[in-house]
Amino acid sequence: MGFFDKLKTHFSGVFAAGRLDDDFYDELEEALITADVGAGLADSLTSALRDRVKQQGIKEPEQAKEALRALLIDRLSTRDGGAIALSPAPAVILVVGVNGVGKTTTVGKLALRLKKSGKRVVLCAGDTFRAAAADQLEIWSNRAGVELVRQHEGADPAAVVFDALNAARARAAAAVLVDTAGRLHNKTNLMQELAKIGRVADRELPGRARECLLVLDATTGQNGLAQAVEFAKSVPLTGLIITKMDGTAKGGVALAVSGAMGVPVKLVGVGEKPEDLIDFNAPDFVREILP
Ligand code: GDP
Ligand code: GDP
Ligand code: MG
Repeated sequence: MGFFDKLKTHFSGVFAAGRLDDDFYDELEEALITADVGAGLADSLTSALRDRVKQQGIKEPEQAKEALRALLIDRLSTRDGGAIALSPAPAVILVVGVNGVGKTTTVGKLALRLKKSGKRVVLCAGDTFRAAAADQLEIWSNRAGVELVRQHEGADPAAVVFDALNAARARAAAAVLVDTAGRLHNKTNLMQELAKIGRVADRELPGRARECLLVLDATTGQNGLAQAVEFAKSVPLTGLIITKMDGTAKGGVALAVSGAMGVPVKLVGVGEKPEDLIDFNAPDFVREILP
């Protein structure tokens, strides 16, 4: 059972009991923990609901459910509406994550989306670990009709980024989208490589819009939080992208990571096709968990 289904099943049991006593809150907290939200977030959500129920004089579980929905939407919503920051241009958009989560695909989809909205985009093949990675990105660059900056296999990713930023400046591009190699979050040298890319961007394009988007696969459980914590040590994360939401897993990891770290979910991948990238919408997402 996927994270989301687990959450749904547990929640329906908790609310079906028909009372709002201490047992209800214990069960709710337990349900949240079982569903991988993490102990800290489970505790803070439960206390927040308790306060709200008291303040608003709520007596019925159905109203409490509505209040919980509002709390969840609140935690998942973002002040800027989740839009990708593009101004001042050229924006540097770094896409990071562990292996196979969908980084390259998402960079390709995003390039296509920006190009369609009339923006000039430069793609940067920052995954120099295998030549095939840059080849994969090249297919996307041809599909989108945008420029690709790449180097030889094994090149320093920060050097490729340096080239891409110069290309973006020369062409007055709106954004540079940087694909990166998948890396396990516990590999220190690879995490330092990301920090170096960040420093190159700081130096070459100071004060420009910057995004560092962590891609998480919807099937990821609590490990997603561990990933986010470690990546955030090398590069400040500005957003999350949840991929593979078209599968059976429903991406509850979004709730865990976004809630625990205050990083907004910005985009959702819903398939392998170019158009399968949508903006995150908190109310829709929460309706999925608490129907
Ligand atoms: P990377 O290693 O992080 O760069 O991952 P890739 O972009 O190469 O994607 C790994 C696999 O996941 C590929 O087969 C993609 O087609 C697939 N993929 C990426 N995003 C999605 C998505 O939103 N839904 C589905 N179903 N598959 C996806
Ligand atoms: P493991 O020994 O089984 O953990 O795997 P590897 O050491 O082969 O690396 C796992 C992944 O980390 C690879 O698929 C690469 O994406 C990435 N990686 C490993 N070493 C490097 C490196 O020196 N540079 C970069 N950019 N990525 C690396
Ligand atoms: Mg890739």
